[in-house]
Amino acid sequence: MSNEAPARTDETRTQRGDVLALLRDAGPLPRIEIARRTGVSPTTITRTVNQLIDENVLVEGNPVSPSKLGRPATEVSINAESYYVVGVQIGIGSVQLGLVDVLGSTHDQHAFAYDIATPVHEVITTTAEAVSTLIEASQIDSRLVIGVGIAVPGPVDAAGRRILLPINLDWRDVPVADIMEPLIGLPVRVDHNVRSMALAEHRFGVAQDCESVAFVYLRTGLGAGLVVHGQPFSGGVHGAIELGHLQGVADGASCICGSTGCLETVLSERALREQATALGLDESDGNPLTAMWHAAETDKSAREAIDRIVAMLSHGLAAFVNLLNPELILLGGALAAVPDAFFERVTATTNRAVFPLLRPSVRIEPSSLGMDAGVLGGATSALERYFYV
Ligand SMILES: [Zn+2]
Repeated sequence: MSNEAPARTDETRTQRGDVLALLRDAGPLPRIEIARRTGVSPTTITRTVNQLIDENVLVEGNPVSPSKLGRPATEVSINAESYYVVGVQIGIGSVQLGLVDVLGSTHDQHAFAYDIATPVHEVITTTAEAVSTLIEASQIDSRLVIGVGIAVPGPVDAAGRRILLPINLDWRDVPVADIMEPLIGLPVRVDHNVRSMALAEHRFGVAQDCESVAFVYLRTGLGAGLVVHGQPFSGGVHGAIELGHLQGVADGASCICGSTGCLETVLSERALREQATALGLDESDGNPLTAMWHAAETDKSAREAIDRIVAMLSHGLAAFVNLLNPELILLGGALAAVPDAFFERVTATTNRAVFPLLRPSVRIEPSSLGMDAGVLGGATSALERYFYV
């Protein structure tokens, strides 16, 4: 962890939110150090901290080093289990949920599958029931659950309430929060799935020391999200970063979006499975990309398939670096489970296509969040809105 709190550019954050975010990022600190790092007077910080202790949000630890006046300085830290949120990932045909505390630990989990032909209202209603059941079945006082964050596969509106166009589902402009809130009696925040994963890595994962981090996630499609200067990044009109629909080859296959040669035509779970099957590989129990990677050691066709995959992915990542300069790129979903040598190769290939000034800074690593990335993403998005404010 860094010694200093990351720079905050969100001017709407309150002093209470600043104190909580500092303690989340830096760990336990004495009041005087909180005052120094936030630039707020010790008197004001003491009042805020004492109020948060009264609310059981902060707890006092043992006295540590004596101050200059000889009095012991007592550290305060966040009480991880003071409150909880429910993180939800709505995927293509599956929903995952987790009850997550304010420091990002998941306590109870649940998952269910749905047919993608199911009407969207029905999927959201079933999800709402699952949220309520998850809370009721847990050992936690339900009054401590302060909100729900839903990570969805596509652009959302600026207010974080509607999903606009999940290209791999037949849903259009769905008011997810408006449908769900009356059913569960909790505030609901909707966020782009991969942007919320980038935020989760920044707040609780391997990107805690990074000012900017990109997350690239391969499942049904290829999505990307970004945190810049510590804040989730949204593009202009619809907040979209559609990396999967960047053109990788001029005369490539038709894409679901209506274009051709998009990265997603090669870099999706289905496309990877088809490529592995065409090579005669049995990858039914595992990751088709890993199966192809190993087959490429001895098989020329598998080597050519891997060359094509690495070229497409690196093309997309180089564009990302040239346009947005993330300090760290994390690969998640089906891309997280491949051997280190894959990452070394993708990094080297990406580097060759990157503006010279940026080459030394390119870092491409696997996500630390595993297959629960979306649950923690949704939870992190909810914590930003309902706790770290
Ligand atoms: Zn496309």
